[in-house]
Amino acid sequence: MPVLLFRPKDYLFPSTVDELLEILDRHGDTAQIIAGGTTIHELAYRKGMGDVRTLVDVTRLPWGRISQHDGDLRVGATVTFTELAAYARNTAPRRLAVITDAIAGIRPMQIRNMGTVGGSICSSLPFFDLPAAFVALGASVTTRGVGTAARTRPIEDFFWDFFLPDLKFGEVLTEVEFPVPGPGTGGSFQKFESNSVDWALISIGVQVEVRGDRFTGVRIALGGGIGRKVTRAVTAEQALLGRPATTDEIERAARHVTEDVRAFSDFRGSADFRNHLLKVYLTRCLTQATRRAAP
Ligand SMILES: Cc1cc2nc3c(=O)[nH]c(=O)nc-3n(C[C@H](O)[C@H](O)[C@H](O)COP(=O)(O)OP(=O)(O)OC[C@H]3O[C@@H](n4cnc5c(N)ncnc54)[C@H](O)[C@@H]3O)c2cc1C
Repeated sequence: MPVLLFRPKDYLFPSTVDELLEILDRHGDTAQIIAGGTTIHELAYRKGMGDVRTLVDVTRLPWGRISQHDGDLRVGATVTFTELAAYARNTAPRRLAVITDAIAGIRPMQIRNMGTVGGSICSSLPFFDLPAAFVALGASVTTRGVGTAARTRPIEDFFWDFFLPDLKFGEVLTEVEFPVPGPGTGGSFQKFESNSVDWALISIGVQVEVRGDRFTGVRIALGGGIGRKVTRAVTAEQALLGRPATTDEIERAARHVTEDVRAFSDFRGSADFRNHLLKVYLTRCLTQATRRAAP
């Protein structure tokens, strides 16, 4: 039986954002936010919690809501995967399919019930599934810090490196938002794992808009083991924009997918294998998203 060596001294439940920021400011880097706790649990198990002595639980803050404002969908930081998938399924199943697909692939079920949107984004790991789905949807993130105004920026700028989000000392993520996908849009998310419990070798989130049988909007986000952060496949996107929404065009564009990323080799698979997977899975994703965009 493994021994869990991480023993925090305090476990605090702030009830307002100001109280949370004050706690983080007072405790410095000996305090860490905990939401669903699923990544923290892994870090603790691997002795990766450093000098943390105080865990600050954000699940009692008013961040558990999903709402629409002026054409944007706003998702609070503590919304769980299960709650977000249910909302997407009930609201616009084909237009928000990139979200439901991504969450359906998150296993086991306990992670879907406990894991939160904020925890998934703030871990800043390209292997996690929801970040690529949000990049495909053109999402932005909003953060707050002590004594500073809220900052909103594109989510793709938020990921700097493994475990390194664009968060200043004491700053927290409050919500993620993206334009509600309109008529003629569809999404898809697919990933390839060598087994059901390992990180994805590659993952792809796609959102397309089709008008008059042509692609009028395309966003492709690549994750998994293809780089140190989620990356847009801009060349493949450009190859499709304005082109007819046909299988030939999709296959032609998918051949460009490796031009914007540098896949790496590790014990899970070679860079060549990952590049091959990217082309195969992008073709599948674009085909599925295009079908879902049909009236
Ligand atoms: C067994 C297992 C299987 C998994 N399978 C998958 C999978 O298939 N697909 C997948 O994508 N992921 C998977 N994960 C990872 C899981 O998605 C993440 O652990 C989860 O998204 C993190 O959310 P959380 O709320 O549990 O985060 P926490 O563990 O609570 O926090 C994660 C990090 O984010 C920080 N943080 C949390 N909220 C905020 C905030 N509002 N502002 C600032 N910082 C914040 C925390 O301080 C911490 O550094 C798996 C994890 C486990 C343990």
